[in-house]
Amino acid sequence: MRFFNIFKRRELDCQEVRDVSSDFIDGDVSDKQKARIAFHLERCGPCTAFVNTLKATVELLRSAPDAELPARFKQRIRDSLGDQRV
Ligand SMILES: [Zn+2]
Repeated sequence: MRFFNIFKRRELDCQEVRDVSSDFIDGDVSDKQKARIAFHLERCGPCTAFVNTLKATVELLRSAPDAELPARFKQRIRDSLGDQRV
């Protein structure tokens, strides 16, 4: 069934979704990719939480100068992102 193989859409896994999540938030992905990510997020709570946290973080960092962020809040972001540098 070659026809179906060509058009078969492979679903993204969690790692792939997280790898592209910052591009997704920036709108820096194709419509097709966006749809695949949204499809995954509808079914995956942890990735939805990850993207929401990242989105909130990105928006906050954009709207507020870094120095004005309370240290405790930054720590919370670091904790929720798995101890990555913010
Ligand atoms: Zn996932």
